[in-house]
Order: sequence, then structure tokens, then C-alpha cells
Amino acid sequence: MKLLLLEDDDLLAESLAETLGDEGYRVDTATHIRVAESLMQTEEYGLVILDLGLPDGSGLDLLERWRGSGYKQPILALTARDTWEDKVVGLRCGADDYLTKPFYGDELLARLHALLRRQHGNTGNVLTVHGIHLDEHLQEVSTDGTTWQSLTATEFRLLRFLMHHPNRVHSKLRLLAFHQQVVAEWSGPSAP
Ligand code: CA
Repeated sequence: MKLLLLEDDDLLAESLAETLGDEGYRVDTATHIRVAESLMQTEEYGLVILDLGLPDGSGLDLLERWRGSGYKQPILALTARDTWEDKVVGLRCGADDYLTKPFYGDELLARLHALLRRQHGNTGNVLTVHGIHLDEHLQEVSTDGTTWQSLTATEFRLLRFLMHHPNRVHSKLRLLAFHQQVVAEWSGPSAP
């Protein structure tokens, strides 16, 4: 999934882009409103992270403009100010959630995943077997549907395999063969 990150603090933008990249998201970073506006017109983003204090205008005005012109993507607003008035204004202008700086990368990911899960209706991508929920889109697992845990790529593939073939005993050989097949698919053709 592709995300737009609008943040004028270079260091923060760089570290967020890295955190998001590690999670498998493709991130376009913009430091100015005019750049973000032109990117929004040409690219398809699954979610936007928007800092409200920007050098060439107000993030709130931009938010309102985007919502006014029909952009439906979830928008996570970032702000340095922590007042309830700001939060209310932000949510009223069309932000789906709000994060006050400073925050941890994990907190951002948790909010982002919650927004994406909410947008996908919490059903379409979630496989449930014997009380275990697997979000196939976000590669996360939950036993109560509320607290979600990230999985490594291998954990996710194996769990998904087991959940797609429930009530069966799988031999170690069968699982190993499946795992090797997955690894081979991921590695693709070897580099020359
Ligand atoms: Ca800023």
C-alpha cells in the first residue's frame, strides 16, 4: 500500500518513512503543501499522514480542502500542540485520528493499522478460525479482535496456511515443503 507523508521536519519524516517502509508500505514524503497537493492529484494513496504545521500554509485548511473535493482516504493528523481545541478542530476538518508529537513509531503504526482496519470494515480481510483472527491485509493476529500483534512474514504465511486448512494434522515434512516453496517464491530468480 502506498502512503503520503506530509511532514516538514526532515529528521522526523525520514525516521517515519523508514518505520513505515519496514512495515512494507511504500511512502511518498512531501515537506510542502503544494507538493502534497500535486502528488494527491496524480497518485493513489491508501492513507495520508498530515502534519498540521507546515511552512507554506495550514494543514487544517488543506485537510478541509481535500475533504471538500471528495478525498476519502483515512487521514492521520500530526501536531505539536496538545490542546483539546486543536483536536476538535482537526477532527471537524476531516481528520480520522490525531497524534500529538512526540510519539513512538509503534504508536503511529498502531493508529494507522486501526484506521485501515476501520476503513476495510473489520471483516473483509480478517480470517477467523477457532477464535483466532488473522488480518490478511495487515498481517496481524488477535485472539480477542481488539489487541493485535504483528507477525513476521514467515509466521504470517504459516499461520495462514494452518487457518486455511483447519482441523487437520500437518506433518513436519508437509509444513517444511510449504515453507520452502514460499521462500523460493519470495527469493524469485537469483541475481546474476
Ligand atoms: Ca511542522
